Amino acid sequence: MANSTPIWIRSHNVWNERAGRFEAAALRVEDDKIVAVAQHGEVPDGAELTDFGDDYVMPGLLNTHVHLDFSGSQTPLKDFESEDPAERLLRAAGNAHRLLMSGCTTARDCGSHWTTLALARRPDLSPVPLPRLLLSGPPITVPRGHLHFMHGVVRDDGDIIAHIDRLQREGGTSVKCMVSGGQMTPGSKPEDTVFEQPSLDLMTAESRRRSLPSVAHVLATESVRRAALARFDSLEHCAFFERLPNGLINRNYDDEVALVLRDSGSAMMANLSTAMPFLEHLRTIEAPTDVQANALRQFDKMIDNFGKLVRLGIPMVCGNDAGVNETPFDSTWLEVVWMIKAGQAPVDALRSATIGAARALLIDNHVGRLEKGYSADLIVLRGNPLDDAANLKSPAFVMARGTVYVGGQTAGHA
Ligand SMILES: [Zn+2]
Repeated sequence: MANSTPIWIRSHNVWNERAGRFEAAALRVEDDKIVAVAQHGEVPDGAELTDFGDDYVMPGLLNTHVHLDFSGSQTPLKDFESEDPAERLLRAAGNAHRLLMSGCTTARDCGSHWTTLALARRPDLSPVPLPRLLLSGPPITVPRGHLHFMHGVVRDDGDIIAHIDRLQREGGTSVKCMVSGGQMTPGSKPEDTVFEQPSLDLMTAESRRRSLPSVAHVLATESVRRAALARFDSLEHCAFFERLPNGLINRNYDDEVALVLRDSGSAMMANLSTAMPFLEHLRTIEAPTDVQANALRQFDKMIDNFGKLVRLGIPMVCGNDAGVNETPFDSTWLEVVWMIKAGQAPVDALRSATIGAARALLIDNHVGRLEKGYSADLIVLRGNPLDDAANLKSPAFVMARGTVYVGGQTAGHA
């Protein structure tokens, strides 16, 4: 239950987003909000206080790209196809709960079945506590396009408006479009761009008019260019994919398109840590096949491209495609680790997983900082995440909207 009587939380290391460092402070939480940030010693006598000593208090993580309907197993598509909508809804609630318990207090679903929008309409009915969820429902896609089996197929601009109307009516709070093909959908070609510019412009204009964040799946180079020109709030993957004559997919970084992306002001989600166990397994194979060797080569290129795009100043946001192949829902922290390995400064990577992500989701006026008026979403870590982002794993304490879900301890008195 949220606290109606104010409580105080303090530590010598509380995240100050504007300064980009941890410093001594005390937070006053009332109901679901932070109502004051005070000096460490300013907690009034007799107040209900949880003192975290030198532990690190920061905003709960945001994961801008998950698929709640997917199992995260080695065969997520097979699992999806074998389950009916009711079973998928149960899976989605469980997956969302795992996000919350791992310290991710806000998540955006980037593609699920229509039925899963029930979680947005009636979170109060969920058998398990949920993080703040933004749901995209079925992604807008073309006939036989990427994730068409989620039933977001459109044939013309009229269909696009009808789709967004229905999405909003059924509780959707984000508009997702598959601007290129995808790797997971049989028959869909990731190197192909499938929407024309006017349709993409229509999607972002409609999203903006309704104050919904827009998000574009872009693997093909031309799809990155068009989605950037349409100014989607967030561009996913930005893989610069091309198909080589030998049939293999290749990342061919395009300097000009990278500049179009930079000038768009759009954020980018790179999901560097997706399918990490699979890649680790590939590295142990002594004589990999061409396809396996290419997968490892493309991973290295992805890391390299991320560094180039960071240096261009493109705002990166944290997301890991949780739910797809071997990508569990408690591994948001691993994405932050890889964003740093691939070239982000630790302070910027923390922002990518908090205020930066909130900005791409259009909720940065109340989520992503520990400030007066902000949602009381916070996690407490034993070690400094700026020294090692792996300290984000398994937080000792998780509070979401003023309610404690992990590490509830008896409050002391000041
Ligand atoms: Zn995805």
